[in-house]
This record gives sequence, structure tokens and C-alpha cells, in this order.
Amino acid sequence: MNSENTLAQYEEVAGRDVIEQLRQLAAPLKGMRLVHVNSTRLGGGVAEILLKMVPLMQDLGIAASWEVITGDPVFYECTKSFHNAIQGDHVNIPGSHLKEYEKTNRHNAEGLKDKLNDADIVIIHDPQPAAMITSFPGRKGKWVWRCHIDASRPYRPVWKYLREFVVRYDASIFSLSGFAQRLPNPTYLIPPSIDPFHEKNIPLDQEELRHVHAQFGIDPERPMILQVSRYDRFKDPVGVIRAYQLAKDFVPSLQLVLAGGSATDDPEGEAVLREVRTEAEDDLDIKVLLLPGDAHRTINALQRIADIVLQKSIKEGFGLTVTEAMWKNKPVIGGDTGGIRLQVINHHTGFLVNTPEGAALRIRYLLHNRDKTEEMGRKAKEFVRENFLITRQLREYLTLIYALLYGSREWIEL
Ligand code: UDP
Repeated sequence: MNSENTLAQYEEVAGRDVIEQLRQLAAPLKGMRLVHVNSTRLGGGVAEILLKMVPLMQDLGIAASWEVITGDPVFYECTKSFHNAIQGDHVNIPGSHLKEYEKTNRHNAEGLKDKLNDADIVIIHDPQPAAMITSFPGRKGKWVWRCHIDASRPYRPVWKYLREFVVRYDASIFSLSGFAQRLPNPTYLIPPSIDPFHEKNIPLDQEELRHVHAQFGIDPERPMILQVSRYDRFKDPVGVIRAYQLAKDFVPSLQLVLAGGSATDDPEGEAVLREVRTEAEDDLDIKVLLLPGDAHRTINALQRIADIVLQKSIKEGFGLTVTEAMWKNKPVIGGDTGGIRLQVINHHTGFLVNTPEGAALRIRYLLHNRDKTEEMGRKAKEFVRENFLITRQLREYLTLIYALLYGSREWIEL
């Protein structure tokens, strides 16, 4: 992935108007000091977005920067427990870990004192650096807590502890309304986005697609359906196999690819993978792939060579795999849950389903109505262009800055 893509390049994919609007919105904010703070520069969706978001903000004339906090293993153990607890796990965190969490935040705050005291806007990502705010009682800028996690049903004792920090912020941001907690400060909703210049989303040539067909023994002459997902019960890979088996009665040449990451560090993932393999065992038309974490181009190619992409989740966060597939002109058959509902507009950009039988019916319909598949694929791509590209997320950040800096004024001069 290249972090040097400039705004001008985004004109090609997002459209001139969109970039022009960004420039207009950003013009009065020129020179404004904005600092993002998170806990890793590499790995995970937050780092990936910041890697692009920060240079784009700079390109718009904002003095944007990105700081990363550091800590000892106990700190990360504690923040991992926060993460799990926010998502609902009942984890009891020892007091010594909480002490280490607060100490690490104070220590990092010391190192960033001047920078954060001078900033006009500070965006703190996720729980790891959330407690830093307590070290800045006299801060001049506006501070925002950006939660990337599904906080709809947190484990109460842990949320009660974290909430004490969160309520001190001037605002908070969640990805979806369903993920948000009730807070006394203004809450903004900013859904995730994909970067069209990420290796996972850039156009690929035919040669590379042919190579991927050959690499995994996929017959290019026969229809193929795909699900890209971790081997996780909530993604329902066994339900996908069931849907494929039902659809195969009507489309005997059908092939299925399930692509997911290695499950060695996740005992439950291994169990799910075993179930999937057992279910797929004697069908040579099912490929169960274990891909390394950086196989972005392979996933890109698989999404491009698939006729239809499934994301038959029973429970889902946003479902970036859905966005990625739609960007490649694929209608998606998705579980009727979470962020999939924001993306799959039933009968327009894909189909929402609740059962393997429902998915099988839709697979059959799309494979027998190629014009419809193409039309839905076109709409799917346009829907992502309008709503889920990084440029939209950038616009929402800019708008948020206006709301924070000028929210109480009756008029804002642009
Ligand atoms: N992904 C990947 N390799 C895999 C499985 C998934 O790179 O083996 C990527 C996928 O392309 C997407 C992200 O991981 O970008 C998964 O995000 P999503 O929101 O769909 O699901 P999550 O795993 O966060 O529940």
C-alpha cells in the first residue's frame, strides 16, 4: 500500500466534486493543529485508516500528525481486556492492571504534553490512550474519543470504569448507531470506509487473476461464489457451505471458495475450521483456503474472480469484506445483521438473507439472471463510491471539526 497517494489521485475514483468539496471545507481550517493518538502504527484497521487519513489531511493544509503511545506488556494485557469487555466478555481486570493502565497513560501524556496542549483538535482512538485526558486539565483544544469497537453491550463494571474517562471528552464518535453507548457529551456516527488505493482494492490485470485461478485450482469456465472471513461461528461458514450445496442442485457446475486467515492463535477458530473442513470434505468444488494476514492482493483477486460474494454472518460489525466486494462490482448476499444492512440494499446492491435456504435461492437467481447480477454489481460499486470511500470519512471528520469548533455559532463562514 502506498501512503503517498495525493488528493488529486483520489479525484479519479471519488470524483472531482468530492475532492473540490473537501478542499472548500478544509480551506478555513488551514494550519489548524490536529493530532491523532492510537496505540499502534502497524496492524489493524485503525492504523490502516490513519496511514492514509493523516497525509490526506496534510494535503488539505491541516497540520495533522499521528502519535502512538507505548507501554509494557501488562498495559497491553489490560487494554486487550478492555477491548474484550467492551464487546461484552465478562472479564475481571485486576486493580494492578488498571494502575498500570493509568500510569502508562500519564507517562505517555508527559511525553506528548506540549504537542497535545497546543493542538486545536485531539482525536484519541479506542481505550488504550483514553485516560490521557486526565493529564490535560487546562487543555485548550477540543478532544474527541473515537471508538472503533462495538460498544453496544459492554461488560458493565469495565465500561463503568472507562466511562469516567470518556465523559471528560468534548465529543465521542462511534461507527454505527447500534454500537454506541449513551453518553452526556455529543455523539457522532462515522462509519468505516475503504481505501481504493489499498492493495486489496486496486484494479488487477487479467494475468494476475489467471494466476490466482491456477494457484487454487478454480475453474475459470465455471461459476464461483466466495466468502472471505475469519473462521468464526458468527460468520457462519458452515451455513455458506449449506447454501452452496442447496444451490448446486440447480447449478451443478458451481464452485465455492472460503478464504480466511490462519487460526493457530485462536482455539475457537481452529474448531470452526475443523467443522468447515469436515463439512466440505468430499466435495472437490469447495476450496477452504488459509491465507497469511498480508495476502491483500490474493483476496483482491478472489473477490474479482467471484461471480457472487457472500457474507452470511449471523452477527457482524460493519463487514468491510462486503464493502470490498461491492467495490469490485459484486452483488453481495449478506446476513441481515449489523453493518451489512447499511451496505446491502435488498434487491438493489445485493440480497439480505437469514437462512442457508434463502441464500441458496438468491445464488440461483443471480446465476440465472446475469443481467441482473451485472446491474446490481454496478449499483453496489456506486453505492460504495458515494458512501464508503475514505474521502467520505475525511469529509465527516472535517464536518465534525466544524461542529466542535463552531457548533455554538449561528453561522459559519466557509
Ligand atoms: N481479511 C483478510 N484475510 C482474511 C480474512 C479477512 O485480510 O483471511 C480482511 C478482509 O478483507 C477485511 C477484514 O479482514 O478487510 C475483515 O473485516 P470485516 O469488517 O469484514 O470483519 P472482522 O474480521 O473485522 O469481523
